[in-house]
Amino acid sequence: MTVEHLRQKKPSLWINPKLSPADETLPRLQFGMDDIRDASDRLRRFAPLLSDLFEDTRKAGGIIESKLTPVPMFQQKIGEASGIDIPGNLLVKEDHALPVAGSIKARGGIYEVLCLAEELAEKTGILQPADNYRKLAGPEARRLYEKYTVTVGSTGNLGLSIGITAAALGFNAVVHMSSEAKKWKKELLRSRGVSVIEHKGDYGTAVQSGREAAAESPRTYFVDDEHSVRLFLGYAVAALRLRTQLQESGIQVDMEHPLFVYIPCGVGGAPGGICFGLKLVFGDAVHCFFAEPLEAPCMQFGFLTDFDPDLSIYDLGLTLTTAADGLAVGKASSFVGKLVEPLVSGCYTTRDEQLFRSLYLLMDTEGMKVEPSAAAGCAGPFMLLTGEQGKAYLRRTCRVSEVSQSTHIIWSTGGSFLPEKEYRNFYRRGR
Ligand SMILES: *Cc1c(COP(=O)(O)O)cnc(C)c1O
Repeated sequence: MTVEHLRQKKPSLWINPKLSPADETLPRLQFGMDDIRDASDRLRRFAPLLSDLFEDTRKAGGIIESKLTPVPMFQQKIGEASGIDIPGNLLVKEDHALPVAGSIKARGGIYEVLCLAEELAEKTGILQPADNYRKLAGPEARRLYEKYTVTVGSTGNLGLSIGITAAALGFNAVVHMSSEAKKWKKELLRSRGVSVIEHKGDYGTAVQSGREAAAESPRTYFVDDEHSVRLFLGYAVAALRLRTQLQESGIQVDMEHPLFVYIPCGVGGAPGGICFGLKLVFGDAVHCFFAEPLEAPCMQFGFLTDFDPDLSIYDLGLTLTTAADGLAVGKASSFVGKLVEPLVSGCYTTRDEQLFRSLYLLMDTEGMKVEPSAAAGCAGPFMLLTGEQGKAYLRRTCRVSEVSQSTHIIWSTGGSFLPEKEYRNFYRRGR
């Protein structure tokens, strides 16, 4: 398979030739529905504690979840702008407004810190099976957690999620930030007592530095964005929640009512986990597309090169220069990529200008405050419905009549914590 089209930097949709029927693929994978249920149950056990620790989770009883919102005005506007009619329902999954971390990282990142907190408290006997998890905010657990350091490498948002949660529980938290990371994210973390170590290099460098620092120190737990099963399963829980939300909205999903989901992709953990969960829930009735910046299409590149560890998007002459800092990753997770390869319908690339335009339109039509990375999903319906690749895919997988009764979900992944000044610049540029 050629990668020439990525080198040419023209926005395009790539259909995954390795997509396979869900009922053949899923039983062969190393994880399944039991693992997602287990993660979901763990989050429920922690809910009372989270609602004590984080005010913004209180209304929902400590369950960290975002709204699924129909966006008819936005649907009309992007239809007009691009000259197409988007058939069926268009909704936004509002992870930009997730509590605690303000991004999709609140799903995986917080989950992984909670796994560690539970494991340590059980091992030391502080937590007994019948205990209320509120106990983990008490002095005994705090004295335990203070002896441990949680560390992570990040372009910003994962650092926020891990740092904020770990510090709130009493862990020492150390976040290695890449050069893309924004100043306000570093300042926010420091204000919560998190140590921030800045690196001149990219995301990969920050992760590698975190990994090495952790390897040298005992009692240091490294959250490995490139290989973490816990992150992956934490993200996957979103699928169970989405199923409930769709049911509550009266939206049917089955082979006659297909669901199309467009998710921004960086290293792959978040979109990969969600795609995995959605395929377990909806099987072949759901079609997942990953959205990447023109300058950082690392997951598509990984699919095309079999995740060759020696290759990165720098080998294409690309530079990672994008305003979508959350997606500025040169090499995708091979762990996630190989796992979800038979489940992903395709990947597309999108220009920064398009991200800003969508960011502006989302605010203007629906009042949604998103960051550039989070807007990458917005081009999805257009990419799928207009190009030859997308049309051929639809003909092959859905009958035309089904497409008119379809549902499209744009997964919006971050932005509600953006400082006003920063956001206004993005908005103005988009306008
Ligand atoms: C991290 C992030 C993503 C993508 O998640 P990955 O696990 O890196 O693929 C998308 N959007 C935002 C805003 C993010 O911070």
